[in-house]
Amino acid sequence: MQVPPFSLSEQLAQLGPELDAAVLQVLRSGQYIGGGVIAAFEKAFAESVGTPFAVGCNSGTDALILALRGLGIGPGDEVITCSFSFFATAEAISAVGATPVFVDVEESSYLINLDQLEAAITPATKALIPVHLFGRPVDMERVCSIASRHGLKVVEDCAQASGASWAGRPVGSWGDVGCFSFFPTKNLGGAGDGGAVTCCDEALAQSMRELAVHGMPRRYLHTELGYNSRLDSMQAAVLNVKLPHLSSWVEKRSAIASRYRNELTAADAIALPEAGPEGHSWNQFVVRVPACSPNPACGSSCTPSSDSASFGLPEACCRDWLKQQLQDAGVTTIIYYPIPIHRQPAYAHLGYGPGSLPITERLCSEVLSLPIFPELSAEQQGRVIEVLLELTAKSGSISQALAA
Ligand SMILES: *Cc1c(COP(=O)(O)O)cnc(C)c1O
Repeated sequence: MQVPPFSLSEQLAQLGPELDAAVLQVLRSGQYIGGGVIAAFEKAFAESVGTPFAVGCNSGTDALILALRGLGIGPGDEVITCSFSFFATAEAISAVGATPVFVDVEESSYLINLDQLEAAITPATKALIPVHLFGRPVDMERVCSIASRHGLKVVEDCAQASGASWAGRPVGSWGDVGCFSFFPTKNLGGAGDGGAVTCCDEALAQSMRELAVHGMPRRYLHTELGYNSRLDSMQAAVLNVKLPHLSSWVEKRSAIASRYRNELTAADAIALPEAGPEGHSWNQFVVRVPACSPNPACGSSCTPSSDSASFGLPEACCRDWLKQQLQDAGVTTIIYYPIPIHRQPAYAHLGYGPGSLPITERLCSEVLSLPIFPELSAEQQGRVIEVLLELTAKSGSISQALAA
């Protein structure tokens, strides 16, 4: 049995006719940019997040850029975020001319360390970007209280967290702006690139809307340098069909996560992710595979990985070994992310050396994302569990042999 990390085939079988009709309607309408389909999606999406305003845009990356620009963040400003995220979180900060300042994450939650975040605030700090990584919500009450104490803006990176909430309130409704991605593998995915910003301030929403269309408040009047970053009508049509299913999909993800957590407790060569708070939307189920010492997951079959040497990261041999073993058994896993942002060549000029964010660096050498998506069948889930238990039991016997 093959278990892919992500697949749309089941969802397409279920929603296919509805999606076909929605897309065909746009195609035949001839209105491909703007129009009622977009407005309907923005209204429904804003309602689902609980904000008065949502503005569609081209991608989650652009959502972050529009948010920072809309809030007036630019050259000379510092924006604090985590390095354990997708590259776009930092890239957006740099794209507006500001400087990303990275702090470490917490080992238990994988999320930005809020003590370090507060300690990193300087007079140049203008904004904070908490990332709801893997769908787990950051403690937004604490982020907002830090921000208001220091007079800072909050941009939530909700790219992986559509359908997530903190303290019963959706992510994207806590900060000044919420930034969402509709990349196909996200919890709410379109049929291509797409994104949205959410906010409660009408003037800010209008400003971001104008920035997304060449800084143009009315046709051919340009008051700012903006972007061409609209959400396409075709994408909005697809998202309109999918949005009503988001909460049930998140429930299914959550049920899979619970099953993995329950049935993998005996896999002691790996560390399972915490259950997390209610409102976790489980875009990924990320286990950790610590390197050989003191936990020899791989026994003697470990070979040093090239990323470890090239990027000054801790050894990832056991994780890489387990990934290959799973692959050989038909279970495909993914590493989110093998190289932390602060160690990427593109950010060498910022001068974060090896060991500067030790937990982030170690996580990048240990993490492995197991298959999780709403349509993953019970049999496929069972197969992932079976193979993992078998492999880690093997390693258990190796560790006993080594100890003897
Ligand atoms: C996917 C992602 C983005 C970027 O979204 P795109 O739609 O791919 O541009 C930003 N931040 C995080 C954490 C992401 O996972």
